[in-house]
Amino acid sequence: MESSMTDSLESSEERLIASILAGVPCAGPAILLGAGHDAAVLRPSSGALDVVTTDAMVESVHWDDRLTPADVGYKLVAVNASDLGAMGARPGWALLCVALPDPPDTAWLSDFTTGLAEGLLAFDLALAGGDTVRAPGNRRFLSLTAGGRAARVIGRRGAVPGDVLWVTGWLGAAAAALLKPSPPEQLRIALARPRPPVAFGARLGESGLVNAMMDLSDGLACDLGRLCRASGVGVQVDETALPVHPLLLGSERTLALTGGEDYGLCFAAGAASTPRLLHLAAASDVSITAIGRFDDGDGPRLANGSWPSPSFEHFGHPGDADAF
Ligand SMILES: [Mg+2]
Repeated sequence: MESSMTDSLESSEERLIASILAGVPCAGPAILLGAGHDAAVLRPSSGALDVVTTDAMVESVHWDDRLTPADVGYKLVAVNASDLGAMGARPGWALLCVALPDPPDTAWLSDFTTGLAEGLLAFDLALAGGDTVRAPGNRRFLSLTAGGRAARVIGRRGAVPGDVLWVTGWLGAAAAALLKPSPPEQLRIALARPRPPVAFGARLGESGLVNAMMDLSDGLACDLGRLCRASGVGVQVDETALPVHPLLLGSERTLALTGGEDYGLCFAAGAASTPRLLHLAAASDVSITAIGRFDDGDGPRLANGSWPSPSFEHFGHPGDADAF
């Protein structure tokens, strides 16, 4: 980790860096030289593709006090790992950038580091380095860049007419938690501790069964439109087949379509692959549900009713989850 701060601040920043590094996994098979140098050195890959992603979280925009500092640390890793899995990659290394108000809240940082370590361990990532800086205001800013490797990558462009549309897990729980100032714990956990099926994504990539894939960060209403545009296809979605989270009642059930932050996978695969997909999902302890069929139409549609306009907002700030 490197600092650009003045001498007087360097010692406190070095203490911050040391406290983060002491609490998280910093070594792994992907890292040849990690934190403690001017830059990290990754091990060369033999034939595998390097896959890299980055995701930022800003206090009051991407989280509020429904998340503990440990939740924030965990989630910062989970959302990045989710993108790696969605590409069919196995996670390996991460770089962390934190901007903290001055003076830094050491108790907050300690809890954050605990959650960060939980996330890194859960998704097989090791911290290869990073940077800490002073934030000018009173909001914390966090960014993680994560990398992994894939024998072959999937992406959003390969869906073809006739493919089946699949999603993993339950939908809508995190969005329901966002609507409640004090959500019940089962919903709060869905928001604070998402469990993207990263290893399953990698297995799907290796299986060669999947034509297009992405993770559901902003909700089906938004994300499925992106996948259709990238592939140049349409899809007819069976609303009655959606795996609505069982705790969602009444009008909340529409959040399975319009809500975000579930971090499940959405993918397209040929109908003939269904038995092998179901077997792979069962072997990976992941539930998958077929919810539609791709065609040569224009974007996603519902059998009964119009496709909802994307309405997902992070804590009242629309559209800021659209990574590129
Ligand atoms: Mg994504």
